[in-house]
Amino acid sequence: MPTPYAYFQGSVVPLSEAKIGVMTHAFNYGTAVFEGIRGNWNEEHQRTYVFRLREHMERLAQSSKILGLELKESTDRLCELAMEVVERSDFSEDVYLRPMVYASGEVLGVRLHNVAFDTLIFLAPFPAYLPETARCHTSTWRRVDDTGIPPRAKVTGIYVNSALAKTEANLNGFDEAIMLNADGHVSEGSGENIFMIRNGKLITPTPADNVLEGITAKSVVEIAKNEFGIECVERQIDRSELYIADEIFMTGTAAHLTPVVEVDRREVGDGKVGPITRQLSQLFFDVIKGNNEKYKHWCTPARARVAN
Ligand code: PMP
Repeated sequence: MPTPYAYFQGSVVPLSEAKIGVMTHAFNYGTAVFEGIRGNWNEEHQRTYVFRLREHMERLAQSSKILGLELKESTDRLCELAMEVVERSDFSEDVYLRPMVYASGEVLGVRLHNVAFDTLIFLAPFPAYLPETARCHTSTWRRVDDTGIPPRAKVTGIYVNSALAKTEANLNGFDEAIMLNADGHVSEGSGENIFMIRNGKLITPTPADNVLEGITAKSVVEIAKNEFGIECVERQIDRSELYIADEIFMTGTAAHLTPVVEVDRREVGDGKVGPITRQLSQLFFDVIKGNNEKYKHWCTPARARVAN
C-alpha cells in the first residue's frame, strides 16, 4: 500500500507526520488559501499526469495576493515540490494534491497581519467526486459576494458557504447544489463552475458573478473552441434559463466534466447526456490522462512506475 507524503514545514515527510497544533490560526479562523490539483493515473503509461500544475500554483499566488499574504516559494519551486510529493507517494490511482498557504502562527486574534504564514502540500487518493451524471437543485444558500470574502480567491473559510449548499443538496436527495449570487443570477456549484448549452452555444456566468475562475473551465472552453469550433459566451444566467437549456454540465478539478441531467426536478433537454457535452467530455478525459499529444503540455508527467 503506498504511503501518502506531504511537504510540511520545509521538508517532504510522510503525511502521518504532518500535524498542526489546535491553536493554529488557520484552524481557528479559516485564514488560509489553497488549491486542488488532480494527478490522473494512466494505467497504460504506468504513470500519473498532473493536470495544469503551473496554472494552479499561479492561482495560489493570486489568492495569496488578494489576501495580502507573502508566498515564500516561487511558482517553479511549488511545482517541483508538488511533483516530489507525487513521486514519493507513488500511488497507482487518481490522486488529489492540496497546496495551502496557511496562517501557521499559534496566536489568538482575527487578522491577516502580524501572524506567521507557512506553505504545505499534501496528497490523498481521490476517486470520482460526483456520479457520472448529476441531479442538481438550486440552493437556498447564496454564493458569497466579492464584498464579503472574494470568491475568486480560494480561501478555506469560504468553503463553509460551499459546505452548507452541498449538504443541503445531498440531504434533499440531489448530487450537487447550484448557487445563485446575491442578485439572484446563477453563480456556480459548491465546487464546480457551470455551463449551459443553448442553440449550440456554450454559455457560462461571468467572473463578476462571484465565481472561482476555474482552470478546468478554461481548459474546456479552449478545447470547445479549438476542436469543435464552439465559442463560449460569458454572461449572466437566470435560474429559469437553466430549465430550458439544451444541455448543462459542471467542471472542476474534483468533478472533472460532469453532465447535469436534472435541475430542480426538471429534466435537462431529454434527461440524457447531450451530444455536445458527450463530445467535450470524451476529449477532456483523454486530455487529462495525457493521451492527447496536442494538449500534453497541460499534463506534467510523474516518473513512470517500475514493476517490482
Ligand atoms: N468553483 C469552486 C467554488 C471550486 O471550489 C472549484 C474547485 N477548485 C471550481 C469552481 C472549479 O475550479 P477548478 O476547475 O480550477 O478546479
